Amino acid sequence: MGAQEDAGFSTRQVHVGASTATASPRATPIYLTAGFTFSDLDESAAHFATGSGFGYSRTGNPTVHAVEERIASLEGGDQAILVSSGQAAVTVALLGLAGAGDHLVVSEHIYEGTRGLLLDNLARLGIETTFVDTSDLDAWRDAITPRTKALFAETLSNARNDVLDVAAVSAIGAERGIPLVVDSTFTTPYLLRPLEHGAAVVVHSASKFLAGQGAVLGGVIIDDGRFDAAASGHLFPHLAHSDRLGGPSYAEKYGRRARGQYLRESVAPRFGPSPSPLNAFLIGQGVETLSLRMERQSANALAVARWLEARPEVERVDYVGLPSHPHHALGRRYLTRGSGSVFTVTLRGGLDAARHVVQSVRLITHMTHLGDVRSLILHPQSTSHSGRTVAERELAGVFPGTVRLSIGIEDVDDLVADLDQALDSVASVATGGRRTDAGTRGSEREVVVL
Ligand SMILES: *Cc1c(COP(=O)(O)O)cnc(C)c1O
Repeated sequence: MGAQEDAGFSTRQVHVGASTATASPRATPIYLTAGFTFSDLDESAAHFATGSGFGYSRTGNPTVHAVEERIASLEGGDQAILVSSGQAAVTVALLGLAGAGDHLVVSEHIYEGTRGLLLDNLARLGIETTFVDTSDLDAWRDAITPRTKALFAETLSNARNDVLDVAAVSAIGAERGIPLVVDSTFTTPYLLRPLEHGAAVVVHSASKFLAGQGAVLGGVIIDDGRFDAAASGHLFPHLAHSDRLGGPSYAEKYGRRARGQYLRESVAPRFGPSPSPLNAFLIGQGVETLSLRMERQSANALAVARWLEARPEVERVDYVGLPSHPHHALGRRYLTRGSGSVFTVTLRGGLDAARHVVQSVRLITHMTHLGDVRSLILHPQSTSHSGRTVAERELAGVFPGTVRLSIGIEDVDDLVADLDQALDSVASVATGGRRTDAGTRGSEREVVVL
């Protein structure tokens, strides 16, 4: 690219100033570039042959890589793969394991987006799902078939705050060489590291606690690097058999890292939910304060949950940090640093009371998100859980009077004062008699009469 100054205008407008000067910035630089230059033909050939270095941001980017290393370390995993959303992380993890004709066993208390992915999208690709009660270990075992390729659950579920017995469910899968994939969004590696309890793959919505400030979407998959071809190779021919060109299998090339490498080299870049380097940078910044936020948010949530439980307007509080929660003992075993910040509270006044509280809070923000530094509130029956039947909602702990809180880092007295003023005026709201559910959407089975 010599002699740029003598070149024509159109040449100069694209080449001048493309600095290659090196510097040593303290913060992770944002490599906001589609690709990377090669210094010679051997370097480009080596990149395509072995994946060395960086070539194109969909297959690798230094900013993304730095965040992946950090998250893999915090989870105690072998490697992490950053993708563009939590939904993409779940999709990539499952498509790395299952294909047409295969089967998954999944907890019935999972994020609605994941449930839709399984019931609508993966079902159309020929991947079948059996849903089981998270706590029923016999149900997990009984649901496994010769075609089962993964067990899937969330560490701490929305809305009932059920705790997954990671070790017990992992062990049931391990008897048959089947990996447990867990969505640990609600717990983060600060509260729980599922790989230490036997899970094989962890996914997160990085949009939530990992980024922490509600500015970006992201997702991450962490593999444990313990793939065992002898125990599991028969279930995963795409890892154990030679590749399309007759070359060595992933298991031969990568040994116990085969599953993670397959996700990184084959699934994520081909389906293509690549993260923006700018978003990766913001997730990396967020992770730097993760422990401080999780500690504060868990402490705030416990204080708010205790306060709510003592209020006359409140029927129940489903927070695993409270001794009244059915999974409190299991929570104490797995969540030794705090119980997270997301929980539900069900008001005696039903939908009218919930509507009133959601619309009366001033400090707490009414929106659909969680894990933010700011406290948030949402009415699940009419939003996140509106696609479920009444019976399914009740099983999930969602009633007309239920609101979900995601408690932030604010001064807890201010949060309590905000809820206090919202609840104080609940008493004056008429309960309104019978009323059609605000969350009703079309189909008759969804109609709720309160
Ligand atoms: C938000 C969320 C997801 C989806 O993540 P996105 O980043 O919104 O795509 C998946 N699982 C859980 C538990 C979540 O809370």
